[in-house]
Amino acid sequence: MNFLKQKKPLCPATQVTVNEKVFSISEYEIDNTAAQGQSICGYMNQREQLIRYNREQHIQQIKDTILHELLHAIEYDLQLNLTEQQVHAMATNLCAVFWNSDNKPLLDWLMKK
Ligand SMILES: [Zn+2]
Repeated sequence: MNFLKQKKPLCPATQVTVNEKVFSISEYEIDNTAAQGQSICGYMNQREQLIRYNREQHIQQIKDTILHELLHAIEYDLQLNLTEQQVHAMATNLCAVFWNSDNKPLLDWLMKK
């Protein structure tokens, strides 16, 4: 009987700071097949400063989702009025840059202050 046991979150980070606002990061569990084919990957709530992701996704999709919601937090704060398609394209393509081992020297350099 382990139904009361908490699963370890798939994202080890519990918060991210965006323009000096601290957003909590947490997960939820929802079966996409139960959502009538709609893809429910995650969401961001600016007022409550939270980012949530559906843990029932491949780990790479979870990372894409968190980056996607992070971009929403940034674009909302800056009132950029990006479309959903623009946010999706930016997140997915940034993930591709991050995960391409050819880019490691640049990414290592960028991560240092
Ligand atoms: Zn979105």
